[in-house]
Amino acid sequence: MSRELVIPAARLRELAREFGTPLYVYDEATILERVRRLAGFDLVRYAQKANPNLALLALLRSVGVAVDAVSAGEIERALRAGYAPDEVAYTADLFDARALEFIARKPLRVNCGSVDMLPLLAKARPGAEVVLRINPGFGHGHGLRVTTGGESSKHGIWHVDAPNALNVAQQLGLAVVGLHVHIGSGSDQRNLALAAAAFENLAPLVRRTLKSLSAGGGIPIPYRDADPDFELGSYAQTWRDAARRASECVGRKLKLEVEPGRFLVAESGLLVTEVQGTKRNGGFDYALVDAGFHTLLRPAMYGAYHRIEALTSADRNLRPTVVAGPLCESGDVFTLTSDGAPDPRLLPALARGDLLAICDVGAYGMSMASRYNSQPLPAEVLVSGDNARLIRRRESLEDQLLHELDL
Ligand SMILES: *Cc1c(COP(=O)(O)O)cnc(C)c1O
Repeated sequence: MSRELVIPAARLRELAREFGTPLYVYDEATILERVRRLAGFDLVRYAQKANPNLALLALLRSVGVAVDAVSAGEIERALRAGYAPDEVAYTADLFDARALEFIARKPLRVNCGSVDMLPLLAKARPGAEVVLRINPGFGHGHGLRVTTGGESSKHGIWHVDAPNALNVAQQLGLAVVGLHVHIGSGSDQRNLALAAAAFENLAPLVRRTLKSLSAGGGIPIPYRDADPDFELGSYAQTWRDAARRASECVGRKLKLEVEPGRFLVAESGLLVTEVQGTKRNGGFDYALVDAGFHTLLRPAMYGAYHRIEALTSADRNLRPTVVAGPLCESGDVFTLTSDGAPDPRLLPALARGDLLAICDVGAYGMSMASRYNSQPLPAEVLVSGDNARLIRRRESLEDQLLHELDL
């Protein structure tokens, strides 16, 4: 076993017996430790799309972490989890009717990624404070589909248009209180540092009203043992330096925010899945498990790598194994190259009933799960020291049929 599991194998076996599989298990201590690592920022704002379970939102709220919402549903979740409206930021490139309605009624922070949102905001909330999300003209993510800066991304106000956006906001009577940049998810150190420079020319233009700068999210985590360490210390320092220069220029101390999703929760999460059968097709040995891309989409969608550890088989003879799910879909495989070809992992001999843990699934795991093939959404458990609490029960068929109308 290369790296230790955040929750020991014996505990995971017990939880699988108690709650069934496939099962998402999160370790509270790991999440709290990641929050502490971000102490170099004035405010940590959780990008809840990584994992919006109410129990996780309440946990993060209890340690002073604010929250980001990218839809009306996420606004509502944050409020249900106990957040006050002014602790919630709505970040989007558009307003839908429901989000606008919330914003008209509650003092949420609004982070606009498109200039045409400004008149809508001014109408819904005259005189509102607004944050502008700037697309600095470049981006970087773990893949092109999660790169949110640069001209091939729909996100943010194009940097060349930013002075115009500031003018439009001012003419509409909106106070631009923040500037924000988010260039991608799972970015690299160099690009994240470069993004800090994006504000230096803009801050002087909103000198009178500016209160905060946001570094966005995108901090990567080490999915593979060989992934380079992200130097959080120098990243925070780069941003603190940029914030200090901008503060000097506006003559007031600007609050520095960071807005991670993945970094806070990814490594806390394990997906426990049970082997349902094994087979050999051509040159490949397959272990077919009860989780699939309906449970964890990242491997099928991005060719993403997740470490997989055997929880029951003690066989020391490792063999190359393709781990695949139950869906009627050939892409339903957890061990793929980034091009989507089978990429067997060295695992002990497996048999029906054996358990595997898929690692680092706390972010973009459950939040991207679906009911494809009429599979029920899995259960989720939060482990806090000796205590393990079910935070979402497994769906029943009745749950799935709830909104369908009888013929
Ligand atoms: C997705 C997103 C984040 C979080 O990205 P991570 O890579 O999970 O840190 C932060 N801010 C915005 C606006 C996002 O859309």
